[in-house]
Amino acid sequence: SKLSPLVIIVGGGFSGIAAAKKLYEAGISFLVLEARERLGGRVFTKTISEGLYLDLGGQWIGPTQDRMYQLCEEHGLETFETYDQGKNILDLGGKIRTYAGMIPKMDLISLINLDLILKKLEKLARQIDINYPWSHPKAKKFDAVSLDHFIRKNSLTKSCEKVIRVGCETVFACELNEISLLHALFYIRSGTSLECLINIKNGAQQHRIKGGMQPLVEQMALPFQDRIRFNSPVIRIEKTGNEVQVKGNDFEYTAQKIILSVPPPLLAKIRFTPDLPTEKRQLLERYSMGHVGKCFMVYEKPFWREKGFSGQAVADKNSPFQTLFDCSPADGRFGVLMGFTIGNRAKSFFLQDENARKAQLQEILELYFGQDSKHPILYKDFTMSDEIWSSGCYAGIMPTGAWTGFEDAYRKPSNPYYFAGTEASTRWNGYIEGAVLAGEAASLQVIKSLQHD
Ligand code: FAD
Repeated sequence: SKLSPLVIIVGGGFSGIAAAKKLYEAGISFLVLEARERLGGRVFTKTISEGLYLDLGGQWIGPTQDRMYQLCEEHGLETFETYDQGKNILDLGGKIRTYAGMIPKMDLISLINLDLILKKLEKLARQIDINYPWSHPKAKKFDAVSLDHFIRKNSLTKSCEKVIRVGCETVFACELNEISLLHALFYIRSGTSLECLINIKNGAQQHRIKGGMQPLVEQMALPFQDRIRFNSPVIRIEKTGNEVQVKGNDFEYTAQKIILSVPPPLLAKIRFTPDLPTEKRQLLERYSMGHVGKCFMVYEKPFWREKGFSGQAVADKNSPFQTLFDCSPADGRFGVLMGFTIGNRAKSFFLQDENARKAQLQEILELYFGQDSKHPILYKDFTMSDEIWSSGCYAGIMPTGAWTGFEDAYRKPSNPYYFAGTEASTRWNGYIEGAVLAGEAASLQVIKSLQHD
């Protein structure tokens, strides 16, 4: 192609588009290459009918995610509070209990134990410098064990262990033995605190966007739509002299700087000549992606609200769903309950056909909310793990040894390459806010380096 932009951005998720927006505002020429036929990546809103939309990927925002609120305002999108009133459900071994507030109803020892573990995680996380997690005096110790190890060691009762596990699985979207304790502490600190990550009110699940999350990224990209090329997976990137060739099956562009905003496993699949620095390559091979499915049951109205239920539930392994949330649209015109199935539970869940999956959610909802749940108007489930251009979710996870072995090798630029994507963020790593911050930071680095060249 004759077009030769100064900068090429690989990936049109929130991070790539936030990077593009910055370059656009700075008057720098760029091109976004996006593998899919849509923007948003791990954010994907499916409109079912007038007034009914399902966020199949990322959807919530909350306090301290300042850029997200600013972007909503800038683009005239309204937010609304996640429904959070009434009784929550705790399901341990099929035994159903209801409770109000954040702390499930359990025996006193389990409650005290749970409180102690949460406090311990909070305290350790507060000691982590998000820019240098490996610099903590006990970093090697924390990085040698998994979050699973920490929870097993600190849990005195089965009930406590089950509840803390479900909470952590919902936050990290993986099996807890896959994640380094140091990464867990970094992640908690990165998202402010564990309380903030877990909570609806005053937490990361406080707000949703009316009409869904994906329209926001589309609004952001509106002024530079002509600089986005869809259905264009980047396969090879070759550097010769001061120029970089970016190649796909049916295109080839030349640019001076490249911003990479794709998730780690997909970055690992792009062939670089010369290759990326060894430490980055080795770290890329260690990253794993989480695994989560969202399963929606849609009703004519949110009937559970009238019965005093919040729609929230927490369940141990007897259910395929770790947690349930009320995901109804803002006006409550339809009722939507959403179950998260995560890690190994997601693996077995998605081995079944759709009818069996629907039946499982149906059965659980009847158990929790009674006869009214018998007549849904729609079932829909989805996992980004089945999509090659995400290959997992919510985000890339650092296993044991990665932070102390490779430090900031993931986000460190190696001119002419600049790394964005939520995994490159120190703030709100793993979240949409982190994706935006990392995209903007990569563009600022590019602008700076262009001034120096
Ligand atoms: P992506 O969105 O993955 O964007 C990368 C883009 O690159 C994609 O569009 C992809 O198609 C493209 N691409 C990949 N490879 C190539 C290639 N070789 N060439 C060209 N293009 C390529 N976060 C929150 O803040 N709140 C939530 O409530 C929340 N819930 C979530 C629920 C689910 C089910 C999932 C999956 C994620 C959730 N997240 C949530 C996480 C959030 O969605 C992500 O952190 C964020 O969207 C990542 O944005 P990104 O731009 O870094 O990456």
